[in-house]
Amino acid sequence: MNVLLLGGGGREHAIGLALRKSARLDTLFVSPGNPGLADVARLVVLDLANHQAVVDFCRLMQIGLVVVGPEAPLVDGLVDDLETAGLKAFGPTKAAAMLEGSKGFMKDLCSGAGIPTAAYARFTDAARAKTYLAEKGAPIVVKADGLAAGKGVTVAATRAEAEAAVDRIFDGGFGEAGRAIVIEEMLEGEEVSFFALCDGKVAQAFASAQDHKRVGDGDTGPNTGGMGAYSPAPIMDAALVARVMDEIVDPTLAAMAARGAPFKGVLFAGLMITSEGPKLIEYNVRFGDPETQVMLPRLEDDLLDLMLACAEGRLAKRALRFSPDTALTVVLAAKGYPGTPETGSEIRGLAEAAAMPCVTLTHAGTKRDGLRLLANGGRVLNVTGRGVDVAEARQRAYAAVDRIDWPGGFCRRDIGWRALRR
Ligand code: AMP
Repeated sequence: MNVLLLGGGGREHAIGLALRKSARLDTLFVSPGNPGLADVARLVVLDLANHQAVVDFCRLMQIGLVVVGPEAPLVDGLVDDLETAGLKAFGPTKAAAMLEGSKGFMKDLCSGAGIPTAAYARFTDAARAKTYLAEKGAPIVVKADGLAAGKGVTVAATRAEAEAAVDRIFDGGFGEAGRAIVIEEMLEGEEVSFFALCDGKVAQAFASAQDHKRVGDGDTGPNTGGMGAYSPAPIMDAALVARVMDEIVDPTLAAMAARGAPFKGVLFAGLMITSEGPKLIEYNVRFGDPETQVMLPRLEDDLLDLMLACAEGRLAKRALRFSPDTALTVVLAAKGYPGTPETGSEIRGLAEAAAMPCVTLTHAGTKRDGLRLLANGGRVLNVTGRGVDVAEARQRAYAAVDRIDWPGGFCRRDIGWRALRR
């Protein structure tokens, strides 16, 4: 079967490597891809906003499955247009992608279905929002309703900070995403990323991970897209997984189907494990980055088979096979990230790093310039180590990081600290 994978980050490189293991795969096409994916797939140039062009390409190349990596094409309805054209896709329709596309939609769905989440209210004007803030006090969380590339959330320690966040969102800086806001209770506990595969009716627990969002060691400094992650999350034992499926994922699938928007693809639940049990912070409607880089290397089932079963509505309720080991990934970022990254610096030593035992390298923001490999973005490379536990996986990942010669980059040196302390 020919497959078209859309996206070009470390997540897509990890998906590409996992799809390559499938005996069913013939040609893997990727758009736009990256220099790492170029080694395992054929890169093609497609305008993802032009859905007809994607459909035409799929027909020409007899694509049996389209795998959509990032959220923007999903929220934009690419899967709807592919399915209308008779093509198969792994990912939700536009209506189902609202779980990520609108925080207000997600919160209303949870409250209707009795899914545990933070208490909240929705607003479309600043004055009412501020009256509510005055009633509730701080700490409190203020969120732009729509997609804001991870920058729309403020966990405010004071009322003044919360009011400033309300003004910032309504000032227009977030465009459409900032036309409405959600204000919610601050949850306390340990944060976990949990993933379930879904075929519209059936959800199957996939895997868990924990990431490090802050740029600096000790979880300090500004938020980023994620500076490292490990899987599984030690806190997610079998009982907690069962509870999350029963109380959060299964009721979500039922509520979406009842609304005529059955959810297909991978549901990524951002959870807070509170003293009262798991509560939903947010949903994403695609794989996480960098969580995918630590989950997929552990998967022992055939990813292409699973994705096809989701697309075709025939996912079986059975436990998936994962290796019992731990994977830990360290993100290498260009200096300046998460502000303006310095691009164009040369990266050397990747072959030596990749040859280290139990290590996988995935590319995110890199580009080739002849024989040289250059930094071309904020998050540039992921170095993933595997081992019997977090300590061994981490030791292997950092041993490989230390083989990479890239003065223009940096990484955190403490990925996995929380798990190690357990
Ligand atoms: P989100 O974009 O909704 O994932 O929010 C980004 C981050 O803000 C989350 O990963 C949490 O660390 C934090 N956050 C969001 N909502 C809450 C909440 N209600 N309570 C505590 N932390 C939150």
